[in-house]
Amino acid sequence: MAGKLTLAAIARLTRQRYHHDLVANLVSLAARLLGTRSVGYYEVAAPEEEGGSPRFQNYLAPDGPPPSWGEEKVLLRAYRRRRPVRGKVSHGAGQKTCVVYPILGAAGVQALLLARVRAAQSAGQRELGQLLAVYQNFLQLFERVDRDALTGLYNRQAFGETINRIMHPARGARGRRKDREHVYWLGILDIDHFKNVNDRHGHLIGDEVLLLFARLMRDTFRYEDRLFRYGGEEFIVLLEGANGDSAQQVFERFRLAVEATRFPQDTRITVSIGYTEISHEGLPSDVIDRADRALYVAKNSGRNQVLGYEDLLAQGRLRQAEYPSHQDIQLWLNAKA
Ligand code: GH3
Ligand code: MG
Ligand code: MG
Repeated sequence: MAGKLTLAAIARLTRQRYHHDLVANLVSLAARLLGTRSVGYYEVAAPEEEGGSPRFQNYLAPDGPPPSWGEEKVLLRAYRRRRPVRGKVSHGAGQKTCVVYPILGAAGVQALLLARVRAAQSAGQRELGQLLAVYQNFLQLFERVDRDALTGLYNRQAFGETINRIMHPARGARGRRKDREHVYWLGILDIDHFKNVNDRHGHLIGDEVLLLFARLMRDTFRYEDRLFRYGGEEFIVLLEGANGDSAQQVFERFRLAVEATRFPQDTRITVSIGYTEISHEGLPSDVIDRADRALYVAKNSGRNQVLGYEDLLAQGRLRQAEYPSHQDIQLWLNAKA
């Protein structure tokens, strides 16, 4: 049975403060409106480029079965036309109907909602269209809160949410088991002697350099890598390391790109990078601390270089840091109380 769209349901949706919860809420609302249990939210993991197809990833169930060949075609059509598309897809022995609604973000189609429905059914679809209009506006507001105003990269607040989700996937998402098997790397990028740029050319040129630096990050790292402005001239990159290149190679490529770039007023800059593997134990602050310690060594041994915390440990250039376990923190808090 298809349901009705109520203001209470919209209030519940727009009360969500985390992207994951927002999507989960939307999917269950859409399922109720259409009277189906089969609704998937596909994020555009890679946009369509010349010669390459876009990649769609099931956001709530990245380990779940991928869309069928027929569904993939309907997803692609809705992605290209930027409006809802209905299509028949074979399902086992019979046929099913699927409807796909594109979801527009600030930079085009950001995700697609796919629902499997009964052939002749149209109930609930108008309401779903209206709901998605609200959702889209809300999503765009969300995006603005998460972004740094100067560079357009994700800001420190968004970083906090992302690192938490990567380190403790169970907390935010059921079925994100795959995250536990993935290797992620965190790199802190700090521009060398940036104060000199400001001193020599003024703050405005300094800002321009930061903006171009961020653009270079976008051009050099992959679409799936997550890029943040962590503070003034410090940036963070989260790499998913399940591919051929090692983190060292990826960061080194960026370091070389910075070295080779001419910034305004013929300014040349270099960058120092410290990185570490993200573990699923401990706190996000431990991970940042490890990358920071590697960065510190890079800064103190000539700058303009990429150093990994684990390599520095192996070489004996850094000693293992001792982090208190959660239990110790609890004891310590109790002892103070
Ligand atoms: P190091 O190689 O040790 O990193 O030297 P540094 O000069 O880059 O480091 P420091 O942390 O001493 O100085 C960072 C400078 O970045 C200080 C500040 O003026 C500048 N800065 C921070 N945020 C901004 C910003 O938004 N715009 C501009 N133009 N400058 C900024
Ligand atoms: Mg700094
Ligand atoms: Mg600096």
